[in-house]
Amino acid sequence: MKMQALAPRIYAPLLAAQLAVLVFEPPHVLSLSYACVLAILAFTLLLSLRRVRLSLPHNRPLWALLLAALLSQAAAFVLLFADSLVNPQGTLVAFDPTFYFCMGSLLLTLAATYDPVLPAYRWTAWVDAALAILIALMFYGLVRALVAGAEAQPDNARAIVWLFDGMGLFVAIFATLRLLGARRRDERRFFMVLTAFAWIELFAPAAHNRFVLSSESYVPELLLSVPFAAIGLLLSRRYGDWLRVYRPPARVRHLAGSVSPFVLSLALCLLAFAYLHRSPVLAACAVIAGIASYALRAALMLGRHLSSEDELKRLHHGLRRAALRDDLTQLLNRRGFYRAFDREWERARQSRTPLAIAMLDIDHFKAFNDTYGHLAGDQCLASVAQALAGEAAAMTGVTLARAGGEEFVVLMSGHMPHAAGALLEKLRGRVEALRILHVRGVRGFVTVSAGIASSELARYEDGEEMLGAADKALYTAKRAGRNQVVWAEVPGTEAMS
Ligand code: GH3
Ligand code: MG
Ligand code: MG
Repeated sequence: MKMQALAPRIYAPLLAAQLAVLVFEPPHVLSLSYACVLAILAFTLLLSLRRVRLSLPHNRPLWALLLAALLSQAAAFVLLFADSLVNPQGTLVAFDPTFYFCMGSLLLTLAATYDPVLPAYRWTAWVDAALAILIALMFYGLVRALVAGAEAQPDNARAIVWLFDGMGLFVAIFATLRLLGARRRDERRFFMVLTAFAWIELFAPAAHNRFVLSSESYVPELLLSVPFAAIGLLLSRRYGDWLRVYRPPARVRHLAGSVSPFVLSLALCLLAFAYLHRSPVLAACAVIAGIASYALRAALMLGRHLSSEDELKRLHHGLRRAALRDDLTQLLNRRGFYRAFDREWERARQSRTPLAIAMLDIDHFKAFNDTYGHLAGDQCLASVAQALAGEAAAMTGVTLARAGGEEFVVLMSGHMPHAAGALLEKLRGRVEALRILHVRGVRGFVTVSAGIASSELARYEDGEEMLGAADKALYTAKRAGRNQVVWAEVPGTEAMS
C-alpha cells in the first residue's frame, strides 16, 4: 500500500487508542499514553528515514537533522515512559527528558539555519551552527537552573514552560523565514515540512503544558501525539500536491533572505538578558558573539555587494559602448550619432549658438570594393575613419560618426558657417592627403564628397530637416564631380560652394 494511504490508517487507531486510555484512565494511564506517543513517533521516524533516503544528496543533511531531532524527542519520551512506570503520577518536570527536548530544539534550529547549497561564504554555515549550539547550551543551562530550583520555587515550572514556548517560537519563526526565502523547489519542500512541524510543535505542546499545570484531566496528553502524527502525514504525502500552493514572490524572498541571518544573533542577545544576573560574563560573551557574527556577515555581504556592483558597472559601460560604437571604425554609430545630435540640437536651440552638420561620403567606393576586394575596402574605411577622427579630435565642438556604409556625419557645435566650411574642407583635404590608391577614383586616389548645412543660414524645423538638407547638398557635390564640399541650398538663394 502507498505510504500516503497507509499513514492515516496507522495514526488514526493509535490516536483513538490514546484518547480512550486518557478518557477512561485505566491503571498506568500515563505509561499507556506515552506508549501510544512512542508508537506514533516510531512510524513517523520510519517515514522520516524514508525521506532521508529519497532526498537529493545536497538536501540530505537537512532531512537527517529533522530525523535526528525526532530521534531526540523519541529519547525524551522513552525516558518519560520509563519514569511513568516508576512513578505512575508522573513528574511535572523531569530533568533528563528536558535535555533531549533541548537537543531536539537545537537540531531543529540547525536544520533551520543550514543552507544546503553553497551560501555566499561556506564558513557562515559553521558560524550559524556555532551560534545555534551556543543558543541551545544557554537555553539548556537556563532550564536546568530552573529545574534545580523547582522544589523551592513552584513558579519555575511555569517559567520553564515559557522558555520552551520561546524556543519553539524562535524555531517556528526561523523556519517560516527560511520557507519564505527558499528559492529552489526541493529546498521549499523541506522548509514547508519544518515550518508546519515547528508551528504545530509550538501550539500543541504549549497548550499541553498549560493544561497539565491547571487541569485534572489526562486528555490534554493527546496533544503530545498531534505534532508527530501531523508531520508523519506531511512526510507521507507526495510533494507535488501541496508544493504548488505556495510560491514566494521575489520581494518576499529578498526580505526573508535579508532578515533570516539576523535571527540567530537576535536570539543570542535575548538569551543573554536572561543570564544578566546569573552570569554577567556569559551574558556579555553571548551579546558579543551575537553582534560580532552579524556585523562580520554584514560587512562581508556589503563587500560582496559592492564588488558585484562594480562588476555590473563595468559590464554596463562595456554594453553601452558596444551599443553606441561602430566595430570597424571605432567611431560613434548611427544610434550614438542621433543621441549626440539630439543633445547638441537642443543645446544650440536653447543657447542660440550656431550648429552645422555635414554628410560625408567616400567617392566611388563600390568601384574600390570591386577593384581591390571587400577586405581592402574595410581597411580603406578604417583608414579614412582614423584620419577623420584624428583631425576632428584637434577641433573643438566637432563630433564624428559613421552614419552607415561609407558615409560619415560631422556635427559642428558653436561654429559659424565659414568656420564650419573651413573645418570640413580640412577633413576633405586630410582624406585626399592619405593618397590611398584608387585607380577608378577621382584622380586615382580615395576622396570624399560632403554636403553641409548650418542653422545660421536657414531656419530648420528640426534636426531631421537640417540633416536632409546636408544630404541633398552631398548629392549635389557628387554630381558636381566629387571630392568637394557643397553648402545646402538656402531657400530663395543660389547654392554656395
Ligand atoms: P558615390 O561616389 O556616388 O558615393 O559612389 P559609391 O560607389 O561610393 O556609392 P554606392 O552607394 O554606389 O556604393 C557604396 C558601396 O559601399 C557599396 C558597398 O559595397 C560599400 N560598402 C558599404 N559598407 C561597407 C563596408 O562596411 N565595407 C566595405 N568593404 N564596403 C562597404
Ligand atoms: Mg554612399
Ligand atoms: Mg560613396
